[in-house]
Amino acid sequence: MEGAIQYPQFRKLRGGDVWYRIEGPARWTEFQRIGTRWVRHDVVAVQHPERMTLHDLRHDGERYAEVDRTEWAEAVGEELPGAAKPVEADLAGRTTFGVPARATHLIEADSDDAVRAALAWRPAGMPLLVLGGGSNMLVHADWPGLVLAVTVPGVAVVADDGRYVEVVVGAGEPWHDFVMHTVEAGWGGLENLALIPGRVGAAPMQNIGAYGVEIKDRCLWVEAVAIADGGLRRFSAAECGFGYRESVFKGAERDRWVITRVAFRLDRQAPLRTDYGAIQSELPEGPWTARDVAEAVIRIRQSKLPDPAILGNAGSFFKNPVLSAEAYARFAQEHPDAPHYPQPDGTVKLAAGWLIDRAGWKGHDRGTHGVHAQQALVLVNKGGATAGQIWQLAQDIRRDVLSQYQISLEPEVNQIGL
Ligand SMILES: Cc1cc2nc3c(=O)[nH]c(=O)nc-3n(C[C@H](O)[C@H](O)[C@H](O)COP(=O)(O)OP(=O)(O)OC[C@H]3O[C@@H](n4cnc5c(N)ncnc54)[C@H](O)[C@@H]3O)c2cc1C
Repeated sequence: MEGAIQYPQFRKLRGGDVWYRIEGPARWTEFQRIGTRWVRHDVVAVQHPERMTLHDLRHDGERYAEVDRTEWAEAVGEELPGAAKPVEADLAGRTTFGVPARATHLIEADSDDAVRAALAWRPAGMPLLVLGGGSNMLVHADWPGLVLAVTVPGVAVVADDGRYVEVVVGAGEPWHDFVMHTVEAGWGGLENLALIPGRVGAAPMQNIGAYGVEIKDRCLWVEAVAIADGGLRRFSAAECGFGYRESVFKGAERDRWVITRVAFRLDRQAPLRTDYGAIQSELPEGPWTARDVAEAVIRIRQSKLPDPAILGNAGSFFKNPVLSAEAYARFAQEHPDAPHYPQPDGTVKLAAGWLIDRAGWKGHDRGTHGVHAQQALVLVNKGGATAGQIWQLAQDIRRDVLSQYQISLEPEVNQIGL
């Protein structure tokens, strides 16, 4: 299984001054000395000749000598980026809740090597927080360690058969910009996920979803640098263990990886998903395009969800509860009017927003913070709230919903430093 191979691996051309670092199952970097200069090529091996070369690099010991990290670094080490200098940083401006918090060290990393350099800089035992756009976290205290802000750029088409397009996207790309890029290009499948804040690298973390689509429907693979040793691993979509607001990166592989790029398989003929929420009523006269759907989604979201630039929030604070068929049957006897969504596995998803609304919390106001007036699932920082106050409100809502409906709400927002 590809995933079990450790990266990077190092090779040298026998009898020449060409050095290779194999970054992952379909990627290597070549360093060639020309006079006193090093020329560097980053190669993505998705087509036949590059794949063959990669195979030879790995297996043709007569042409390529296997070298270890130290020998390789001595030869071309000066070409590796050093860790950017860590800076002390304000996290309030880097998170959409905007509650006060600082980090003792923050490094921005725009490549796999920069991620590795930052990890190598981190003294043993120093706490590490990986940061994207900060739109799915509530930071409870100053971070006494390294915040690694992933800014890896780039959108690259690596295969296109006229219908399906495979596109590899750097973890630092803003998610919404990437979705609009796919809409512009006519690549279908992600249009329902327009206007979700954050960066591409965080999208697999909780398998982001909206309006009947999740990234698992279009994700091909995820590449990530190991926090333990800097190795690059490619996780196939199956290995990502995607579920409702879940992935292996929040479960068994938690705190072990820095995601640096994500690949998607998009479809110029993807059927449009217009059956969810209020999309139909927002659409103009048909026939529709993916752009029509994206624009309808944007209008609906703008009318319901607070803009984090104006009102601090992290979207849905709680996950929608998923009940077994039996538990739902008991619940439905008392609440037959509750919106519910049968799942393929027989479970039934309820709308957490409906439960919170019915329990009387919609628009609840505590001065500096409260529950959004248009969407009961969103807790807001109206200005000057602390994470502790928002967390207290969340606990009060949880307790109340539990006592009124015997349903335990789980937070969707990541609690940092709680
Ligand atoms: C107004 C609003 C609406 C929203 N609507 C939706 C919605 O419809 N559907 C939905 O699913 N979500 C929604 N969200 C939540 C959020 O936007 C998404 O979860 C988004 O993917 C988070 O991206 P981020 O870059 O901001 O992640 P961050 O908040 O920076 O990080 C989230 C988690 O991922 C980790 N992480 C981030 N980047 C990486 C990386 N490169 N490698 C490893 N770990 C990483 C962090 O450590 C953290 O645990 C909404 C949020 C807001 C504010």
